[in-house]
Amino acid sequence: MARRIVCLTFDFDAVSGWIARGLTSPTPMSRGEFGLVGARRILALLAEYDIRATWFIPGHTIESFPDRCEEVVAAGHEIGHHGWTHVPPANMTREEEAAGLVRGSETIRKLCGSAPRGYRSPSWDLSPHTVDLLVGHGFRYDSSMMGDDYQPYWARRGDVVALHEPLVLGAPTTLVEMPISWSLDDYPHFEFLRTPTHVLPGLMNARGVLQNWSDEFLYMTRAVRDWGVLTYSFHPFVIGRGHRMLILEKLIARLVKRNAVFLAMEDAVGEWLARSDGKKRPGKKAAPRR
Ligand SMILES: [Zn+2]
Repeated sequence: MARRIVCLTFDFDAVSGWIARGLTSPTPMSRGEFGLVGARRILALLAEYDIRATWFIPGHTIESFPDRCEEVVAAGHEIGHHGWTHVPPANMTREEEAAGLVRGSETIRKLCGSAPRGYRSPSWDLSPHTVDLLVGHGFRYDSSMMGDDYQPYWARRGDVVALHEPLVLGAPTTLVEMPISWSLDDYPHFEFLRTPTHVLPGLMNARGVLQNWSDEFLYMTRAVRDWGVLTYSFHPFVIGRGHRMLILEKLIARLVKRNAVFLAMEDAVGEWLARSDGKKRPGKKAAPRR
């Protein structure tokens, strides 16, 4: 029987995302603070369905709101690295990025007693150094790229990108990529954001978005005959609003009906590594295609 895994992931940005964008006046800060309310609701829902999820938490959130983060740990969820600040790696120097990785990992170690195995970049924009740094710092997986949908793959380093030349693929590393998509993330669908240069309209009808999200799993039941994993990404300050909590609950109920297997991301990675394809690690003769 096919094993179709679902990873529910929560990026607990709280106020860090607004600070990273320079939006530090009281109202945007309070918008992030609502994540504390949303987190409680999500924890209760996950407990009801006995689902272990993955929470990617910036160090800034952990040190600003330790109590709520301890509740996440106490509920047994996996804690992943999401930067110390919420500045995306693409906007940092290699040194700044490395320092943020170390500081964030130390904060997580203090919170839950062990270093994170997984990383997700703030705002999903890796730098040319990120994969190298994650391998060097002992991370097992990243979840910030979009090169597949239902299958993990080995993250590459050293792609050569030039406007007038064909792309040259770099070598695969031992870092597992757990792919994501903006279409399976709550933020662009729901958040209204006005800046001097653009408007993100958001505020979509939640039931329409639910249809997209549940249809993604429906297609997976056709495309994946043996083993696959589908990742949804949520933010407590976004999905935690009442009418959106209703669709999160409906989504979970539909997935349960269709025999989805809910796993924390580190466990899904472990299964992939244990499968025959996963054992062909890069660097050996029979390197996988990707
Ligand atoms: Zn985030």
